Amino acid sequence: MRFSTRAIHAGQDPDPATGATIVPIYQTSTYTLEAVGVTKGYDYSRTVNPTRVALERQLAALEDARHCSAFGSGMAATAAVLNLLGAGDHVVVTDDLYGGTYRLFSRVLSRYGLEFTYVDMSDLTEIRAAVRPNTKLFWVETPTNPLLKLIDVRAVAELRRPGQIVAVDNTFATPYLQSPLALGADVVVHSTTKYIGGHSDAIGGAAMTNDDAIAETIKFHQNAVGGVPGPMDAYLVMRGAKTLALRMREHDRNAQAVAEFLAASPDVERVNYPGLETHPQHALAKRQMRGFGGMLSFALRGPAQRALDFVKCTKLFSLAESLGGVESLISIPSRMTHGSIPKEERERRGVTDGLVRLSVGIEDVEDLIEDLGQALEQTRELALR
Ligand SMILES: *Cc1c(COP(=O)(O)O)cnc(C)c1O
Repeated sequence: MRFSTRAIHAGQDPDPATGATIVPIYQTSTYTLEAVGVTKGYDYSRTVNPTRVALERQLAALEDARHCSAFGSGMAATAAVLNLLGAGDHVVVTDDLYGGTYRLFSRVLSRYGLEFTYVDMSDLTEIRAAVRPNTKLFWVETPTNPLLKLIDVRAVAELRRPGQIVAVDNTFATPYLQSPLALGADVVVHSTTKYIGGHSDAIGGAAMTNDDAIAETIKFHQNAVGGVPGPMDAYLVMRGAKTLALRMREHDRNAQAVAEFLAASPDVERVNYPGLETHPQHALAKRQMRGFGGMLSFALRGPAQRALDFVKCTKLFSLAESLGGVESLISIPSRMTHGSIPKEERERRGVTDGLVRLSVGIEDVEDLIEDLGQALEQTRELALR
């Protein structure tokens, strides 16, 4: 079955009790047994819940994976994957990554004896130089957040030695545009809060793999720690995921048009979007992805204050954290999503105070471009002063 068919049908069998076509929200914590030890496959909803199982089967199908565990957030899914490691293990991580992942690694997991080295993983020589005898995991986010750099997943998988794991946070690209497992990764992680859910109305996460042993450890962690989604959230993510292909085609088309508009504007210093031919890794993006996605960032000409004014002037782009919903969002990474990274470190990586990030929604693109155009005009005076 092809992508959209899987998105709509995988895991979505009619309800065995009633024939309901749509998977019900099984809002129950427990299940009545016929006798001690005799269940219908369900005993307690932290361990297993039919709505969550339907979501897991759907999400596994989207990544063409044998296994999926759904979580209550992307961070919970990330924490479950990191549980594949133990004290003394070392992780090579991309230095341009989701701020919450950086916080989990640097402020929580490092206290449990895990070691992290942050490098620019778009440069393979930096990855090789960071590997140590105790390196157990490569943590890849591609395209990166917020600079939209690309990491060559196949190349990272090729330099992995036996026993080492390659994990890819595929939240930005989505399974519609990028298949890390097919490129050689061992595990894929998603914040389903973003494109997969797609409507900014639920928090969720998931981890997918084709490796039985990895899947078992993640499943064990899901039940033992309990970071599971409730049935209502599982349902919302599942409903959203059915239209992922449709939405991604529009996100991709709109973001390309917005990127081209910004790149042509004398008010804009630099646009980071893998779909632009000027992007340093445009060729890799074409090879590794089936489209370039809905995320981009750009630097305005003028002082950093201009960016702060600019985000107040847009009317359709709401000033908000998060991404991947049908509505367009705008943010200043240095002050918002990436605020937990020390300023010096941030600037070294290129996340300057004047950098603006867009999550381009699926509104009519002419309206989006007009909105950005009027905000550029309103803030132009500041740049000339
Ligand atoms: C949002 C996000 C996360 C965290 O997911 P939550 O659902 O907010 O916990 C992880 N990685 C990326 C790339 C994200 O955008």
